[in-house]
Amino acid sequence: MSSVVIIGGGPGGYESALVAAQLGAEVTVVDTDGIGGSAVITDCVPSKTLIATAEVMTEYAAAGELGILSDPPTVDLHKVNERVKSLALAQSADIARRLERDGVRVVRGRGRLDGPGTVVAELADGGSETLAADAVLIATGAAPRTLPTAVPDGERILTWEQVYDLTEVPTELVVVGSGVTGAEFASAYLALGIPVTLVSSRDRVLPGEDAEAAQVLEDVLTRRGMNVLPQSRMESVTRAGDVVTVRLTDGREVQGSHCVLALGSVPNTADLGLEEAGVVTGDGGFIKVDRVSRTSARGVYSAGDCTGVLMLASVAAMQGRIAMWHFLGDSVQPLDLKQVSSNVFTSPEIATVGWSQKAIDAGEMQAETVMLPLSGNARAKMQGVRDGFVKVFCRPGTGIIVGGVVVGPRASELIHPLSLAVAESLTADQLSHAFTVYPSMSGSVAEAARRLHRF
Ligand SMILES: Cc1cc2nc3c(=O)[nH]c(=O)nc-3n(C[C@H](O)[C@H](O)[C@H](O)COP(=O)(O)OP(=O)(O)OC[C@H]3O[C@@H](n4cnc5c(N)ncnc54)[C@H](O)[C@@H]3O)c2cc1C
Repeated sequence: MSSVVIIGGGPGGYESALVAAQLGAEVTVVDTDGIGGSAVITDCVPSKTLIATAEVMTEYAAAGELGILSDPPTVDLHKVNERVKSLALAQSADIARRLERDGVRVVRGRGRLDGPGTVVAELADGGSETLAADAVLIATGAAPRTLPTAVPDGERILTWEQVYDLTEVPTELVVVGSGVTGAEFASAYLALGIPVTLVSSRDRVLPGEDAEAAQVLEDVLTRRGMNVLPQSRMESVTRAGDVVTVRLTDGREVQGSHCVLALGSVPNTADLGLEEAGVVTGDGGFIKVDRVSRTSARGVYSAGDCTGVLMLASVAAMQGRIAMWHFLGDSVQPLDLKQVSSNVFTSPEIATVGWSQKAIDAGEMQAETVMLPLSGNARAKMQGVRDGFVKVFCRPGTGIIVGGVVVGPRASELIHPLSLAVAESLTADQLSHAFTVYPSMSGSVAEAARRLHRF
């Protein structure tokens, strides 16, 4: 029986443990902070639970148009945060039970390599254990990036991991960083009724996303009252009493009662014995892996945020599964980032899959594109939805769909037909021939595909 030791119990770690156990390996997971990892305990699950409350508030804010008259609702942030934290812990416990049921051993402690085939775990309750392994998977994740000039104090200057311990409602929140995490928190807290300033070092929010989608989001957030500061690079964040001051590199200052730092992530790859074991890291300390998650050391694989390949829970999990399929001799397809669908959980949401408009515009992929605003969709009109669109990209000639973008409420659900089309190389005609419900938002996905029909 092959033995596998996994360092890190996030989606990169626990999903690979389940696959390895299914394939008959003897599996041990060494984890410090709780099964589920940052994804479950501090990042995805908590933020999306907070956003679930924000979504209801956004619907309330538009309810007047639909004939609903009521006092504006208010949010009990303490209750929201308690719900967030208990849901995260319950999800972590669910996953731990699943691992136990499937015969995976979980060791509470900090793991590090002692050569390529050995892991030493410094146990949480003292002592250490040496674990021999035929294969090791490193899935230690990443942590919020901070700067010496912007040190979180856990009270008013906060990382995204600390926001759920807020004991008072911010009267004016400054979010620094307009990537996915910054945009999601800014959008959510605005919906909860908190005045928000978003400090963005770039020309627009979400610089890494589809430019038209990001523009729709920025317009909506500004219309709802957010103060979006473009081309504003943070120099420092300081606190004096109840006031937090964000100083920008051009000398301007922004003040608020609280500040959330969303400055990206750094990999948890220090003190893991990587160099001694022959595991090569690249820029910023991320572990270098190939498309089947192999590192430079024989028998050592790596998955998830610590590789920096694409910082998503879904990608971490897939990298981990691929590693186990590869090591344990099951059939395996190398990771294909062009099939990944992802979503920005702002209001409206922005979901994407496959090739991007930017790559098409740069000539990296030849594709025909169509963009259909949601404002023409019957269901959208009934629901009072005006902001958003569907974009579909297909190959000229064959009509094979290579990517798409959906902006709108629940875009994360609407992207799935496009993900399926990209994964299965369906043509625009094939996508448009499938029935959609009338009236439905998904009708716009089919209609966009229909417009790509060529004689
Ligand atoms: C605010 C926020 C929201 C997000 N929302 C989403 C989302 O909606 N959808 C999505 O797909 N992605 C989302 N992400 C990204 C997602 O959280 C990460 O991509 C995912 O957590 C990566 O999983 P992982 O297994 O690599 O690492 P992690 O989830 O970070 O897990 C790693 C685990 O390893 C442990 N560990 C570290 N070092 C050691 C050691 N030496 N020994 C033992 N254990 C160790 C850590 O304590 C941790 O438990 C979000 C990220 C952030 C910051």
